[in-house]
Amino acid sequence: MEISPLHAFSDNYIWALRQGDKVAVVDPGEAGPVLDYLQQTGTQLCAILITHRHNDHIGGVSELLAHAAVPVYGPAAEQAKINMLTHTLNDGDTVKLPALDAEFQVLDVGGHTLGHIAYVGKADGHTVVFCGDTLFAGGCGRIFEGTPQQMFASLSKLAALPADTRVYCAHEYTQSNLKFAMAVEPSNAALQARNQAVARLRAANLATVPSLLADELATNPFLRSTAPEVIAAARQFSKDETLQEPVQIFAAIREWKNVF
Ligand code: ZN
Ligand code: FE
Repeated sequence: MEISPLHAFSDNYIWALRQGDKVAVVDPGEAGPVLDYLQQTGTQLCAILITHRHNDHIGGVSELLAHAAVPVYGPAAEQAKINMLTHTLNDGDTVKLPALDAEFQVLDVGGHTLGHIAYVGKADGHTVVFCGDTLFAGGCGRIFEGTPQQMFASLSKLAALPADTRVYCAHEYTQSNLKFAMAVEPSNAALQARNQAVARLRAANLATVPSLLADELATNPFLRSTAPEVIAAARQFSKDETLQEPVQIFAAIREWKNVF
């Protein structure tokens, strides 16, 4: 299975999963980039996967369905807000896409939206995860609907995937995320190196996604609530020297990012 980023809006990625002449797309916020890709590669759409209900992730679905009546998978909890779903999914469900010879496990990763899900599968012998706006390269999504506890639990599930998991998030936010990460944890050498590598990629207009989960664990402040420098930063921002629990540290760092 070949996985390609299709650019949408200013910084969204629609992921195209291709096997032979069959393609599934994840989070088509726009139809245009998908239709162009299908035409350029001489392929056919066989399924649509949705992570959450926001328009920049579902806006192209109706137009795609007008071209090809394919199954649309998405979170059962957001069914009322995504009216074109044909298959509703819950935590622990399996999605089988025989046309791609692929299978995905569904993880409930609520927090950004209440029903947000992620799709975990295999490609080229590695674990891959399509995590929408939950875990970003170097950051995490805003907590629009859930609680910090819920988002922390969701990120912890993603963090527990194999370290060589490829993380396919839905936005190119990496450079600004790492700018914040550097403010949180300036003496993290792995973070400094990643920040420079990402700056080079962006200067060449290249995608920084997918990222490697191992790199997220080493550099993403939202997965590092037990790192001393992250704890110190959370205490300083919240002006509360008693903060200790990882979920409290996470919540303080997320609040700081909201105003950074
Ligand atoms: Zn979103
Ligand atoms: Fe989004």
